[in-house]
Amino acid sequence: MASPSIPTDGETSPAERVSTKVDGVNVLGAISPSRAGDFIACPLLYRFRAIDRLPEPPSSDAVRGTVVHKVLEDLFDLPATERTVERARDMLLPAWQALLELEPRVAELFVDDEARLDPWLTSCRRVLDRYFTLEDPTRLEPAEREVYVEALLESKLLLRGFIDRLDVSPDGLVRVVDYKTGRSPDPAFEAKALFQMKFYALVIWRTRGVVPAMLQLIYLGNAELVRYIPEEADLLATERKVVAVWEAIKRAEEAGDWRPNPGRICDWCSHQALCPAFGGTPPPLPEPTRSPVDPSGEVDTDEGIAALG
Ligand code: SF4
Repeated sequence: MASPSIPTDGETSPAERVSTKVDGVNVLGAISPSRAGDFIACPLLYRFRAIDRLPEPPSSDAVRGTVVHKVLEDLFDLPATERTVERARDMLLPAWQALLELEPRVAELFVDDEARLDPWLTSCRRVLDRYFTLEDPTRLEPAEREVYVEALLESKLLLRGFIDRLDVSPDGLVRVVDYKTGRSPDPAFEAKALFQMKFYALVIWRTRGVVPAMLQLIYLGNAELVRYIPEEADLLATERKVVAVWEAIKRAEEAGDWRPNPGRICDWCSHQALCPAFGGTPPPLPEPTRSPVDPSGEVDTDEGIAALG
């Protein structure tokens, strides 16, 4: 499951600046894998995030993800021989300070207990160290990093998101790579992570005409790689699923019916106080000002670094 990106309340996100606009004519709606995943997990959570755009407090896990992603992106700016674990560790503090400048709210994480900052930075270094047990960046030359992708389907639904890394072999084979700073999920929940990757693979296929040869999830929480070889049939099924989710979102919007769907995801939800499943009452729906479908303009940044981009 994608963790929330660093909020950019009221600001134009990098995605909004570069993505095709939803005009209601040529583009009827837009959706990212994160928002699609939200709706699948809990329609009310989708509403809180995409319709109400309620702010969410930064979490140390999400901020760790942002900082680690930034280091892993910048690591490949260095000459290959310098992409060492020591250099990555050295890049951590500047990445944290850059995030503080961009999003001063993240300082709230440690304001009550500054002593927690050092252990947290140590946990970031541990995560970075694990990366080097899984890949040797001196032998890799990514084709693209933190790349914004979008594809307009025949249904006029725009799929969009950020891919952490694209590797392209000399003979044109494409590998889609995503870093996760958490642990790999139980097999029962793996499909959810793979949905995000298949979504990206579908976008690549639709825009570049190539089915990626491999989807690779790098779990830095427990040093595990999950690899998947997609086929056209997988991606067609993913397309049908995304369109079905989009249509369900439209029906929910028309009916004003955003049902809570309590489950394990509630443990990570910032909106329990407003959720009927926890005795709360959602705020009145805002007046529609933009397309109801993924109106925030946010795309999936997962644990990525859109906020630092
Ligand atoms: S607390 Fe659970 S049921 Fe309620 S909105 Fe959040 S995820 Fe949905």
